[in-house]
Amino acid sequence: MIVYDLRCAKGHVFEGWFPDSMAFDKQVKRKHLACPACGSTKVDKAMMAPNIASPKKKSRAATETPTAPTVPDAAADTAAPPVALDRAKRETAKYVKFLKTMREHVEKNCDYVGEKFADEARKIHYGETDKRNIYGEASPDETRALKDEGVEFGAIPWIKRSDS
Ligand SMILES: [Zn+2]
Repeated sequence: MIVYDLRCAKGHVFEGWFPDSMAFDKQVKRKHLACPACGSTKVDKAMMAPNIASPKKKSRAATETPTAPTVPDAAADTAAPPVALDRAKRETAKYVKFLKTMREHVEKNCDYVGEKFADEARKIHYGETDKRNIYGEASPDETRALKDEGVEFGAIPWIKRSDS
């Protein structure tokens, strides 16, 4: 199981889950991969995880909106204009909704392995077991060990269900 940060032609950033890196290439080639925000199938791997609070994103958002007041970067950090706050709130709501959708997707399509995630991910990585989609919990130590071994995996913020 690999999680990629993806970016569409219009700059929307979202995460995509794949059994392996080949699956990503295949889905892009067949245009099976579409941006959840605009439906664009021109999707590529992004270098950065979505970070709605980053100053970089904030300044980019300001330049994209001609009507927004222009604020120097230094001032933006201490006193963001109300319009930027509204935008950030909307973006956050969108992101939370997206994470909920992703959680449902993961629960439907992946096997829950609980605290054995590190063991199972390792087995899949070394071909000791069939490739399959799994999710579960890993301690920071286990996460570090997996990274050291080159096991590909992703961490996602786990959103609580609204109905629980
Ligand atoms: Zn898009």
